Amino acid sequence: MTTLRIGHLYPRHMNLYGDRGNVVCLVNRCRWRGISVTVEAIGLGDAIDPDGYDLIFVGGGPDREQGRVADDLLSLKADALRAAVERQVVLLAVCGGYQLLGRYYRPGDGADLPGLGLLDLYTEHPGHRVHRCIGNLTATWNGATLVGFENHGGRTHLGAAATPLATVAQGWGNNGVDHTEGATQGTVYGTYLHGSFLPKNPAFADHLLAQALAHAGAAPGLLTPLDDSIELRALATAVRLAGEQQSTGFLSWKI
Ligand code: GLN
Repeated sequence: MTTLRIGHLYPRHMNLYGDRGNVVCLVNRCRWRGISVTVEAIGLGDAIDPDGYDLIFVGGGPDREQGRVADDLLSLKADALRAAVERQVVLLAVCGGYQLLGRYYRPGDGADLPGLGLLDLYTEHPGHRVHRCIGNLTATWNGATLVGFENHGGRTHLGAAATPLATVAQGWGNNGVDHTEGATQGTVYGTYLHGSFLPKNPAFADHLLAQALAHAGAAPGLLTPLDDSIELRALATAVRLAGEQQSTGFLSWKI
């Protein structure tokens, strides 16, 4: 029997808005199908075996925590993560973790944080006197709606090699200007969707699982349909709330 191996990067430092819920979602969507799955926490100082995982997740965090993990990421984990991604390991990163997959992140204070360069993008925080990108975010991905909550100061700009993950319907997304949300390159995915993201977006969760199971050498057909009625009700509610937010002017300062 195939066992899906998940690596959870910096679970203590990069877990803003309960981003660890993405790992819980992936584990449950495997177990509900009888698919064996393991999760290993990868913290500061831990080495990474590039052949040790089928899917790696990193959540978001404030500038301070990003600063704490950035050096560790570059000095201890960069080569292994690049090798893993070259071997089609799925990598999902949210917000602060997403920013560190790019070329650099320029925080609200202090020096630039070099990124892994796994995504062709850069992120710059315009300073603490400029509003943050906060609110319910909806976006279109492969004809489906993705929902979540965003709270970031950084504005992300994609280069030619990166593909936007989704198109913003309501909210800010990468930078509040070009209507892009997130980025993807190969099996690497970055998004600003907190919430946590995957429980309310079951189609995207299964999209990731399909790729990770392929990496694990699993036989096709393991992703049998699940009753996602509760998840889809949560998604619809989040879309409604985002619409109300838009109509009540919650984002009126978006101008
Ligand atoms: N500190 C980063 C920013 O403000 C990321 C925040 C987050 O992960 N929510 O843009």
